[in-house]
Amino acid sequence: MPPPVFRFAPSPNGFLHLGHAYSALLNFDLARASGGRLLLRIEDIDATRCRPEYEAAIVDDLAWLGIAWEPEVRRQSDHLDLYRDAVERLAARGLVYPAFESRAEIARLVAAKETTAPWPRDPDGAPLYPGSAKLLSAEQRAQLIGSGAPYALRLDMEAARALAGELFWRELSLGPDGEAGMVAARPEAWGDVVIARKETPTSYHLAVVIDDALQGVTEVVRGADLFWSTSVHRLLQTLLDLPAPVYRHHPLLRDAEGRKLSKSTGATGLRELRAAGGTPSEIRAMVGLAASA
Ligand code: GLU
Repeated sequence: MPPPVFRFAPSPNGFLHLGHAYSALLNFDLARASGGRLLLRIEDIDATRCRPEYEAAIVDDLAWLGIAWEPEVRRQSDHLDLYRDAVERLAARGLVYPAFESRAEIARLVAAKETTAPWPRDPDGAPLYPGSAKLLSAEQRAQLIGSGAPYALRLDMEAARALAGELFWRELSLGPDGEAGMVAARPEAWGDVVIARKETPTSYHLAVVIDDALQGVTEVVRGADLFWSTSVHRLLQTLLDLPAPVYRHHPLLRDAEGRKLSKSTGATGLRELRAAGGTPSEIRAMVGLAASA
């Protein structure tokens, strides 16, 4: 049996906090305990928020924590053509359509619908896309694109779901709703998700499944906030004929008030803890992991 392959996949849009340290150390410990490999992937497709100085700080903080990964780091911004190809493959099967509304316009459309009944929300609480642009004709689409209008490429969820059929993933730890074992994917809960934008040829969902497959990742260990995103990942893996890793969604660390840690939470920032004299073994203890062997 080849060794299991783990990955830690931070986005360089801020400095790491204790929650990232927990996730990274957990991946490292699990890889070590199973004789597996650990890869580092920089998820930097959002050019407006990602910065090289954050990437450098992430690499520095991870090394300081004592985490070792295989030398070749994959940076998503180096592989945009690959994602573009995948979008084209989905589009060639009629599974993708351009939607031209801005976020504010979508909010207005949803508000208008909500005057009669509540409009469905996705697992993150955002209203589902109302599907208005699906009704545009090929000429209207071509004309809008020709006029330079910005757009998002959305997955036609109904068509994709019909093609893919029932989907499951193997979950190795308890999810937020207590699932373990085989979990039934519910990608329809997300509606017509964005899989690329005019200026960015991929979304998180698309890039993550392509990279996990290309890097041979067999075990995805990440925060429980991404538990239900796995539904979309299983769908895209099936449509693109990619293998499915197993998943282990770990609980999120919370601050004293019970809030999810964020990149702006100074007190739990690794940089701040380091500057205050904290040691890697203290960080391990703070996130509830045993001392390293
Ligand atoms: N880049 C994502 C984040 O920093 C993690 C993606 C994943 O682990 O699938 O939240």
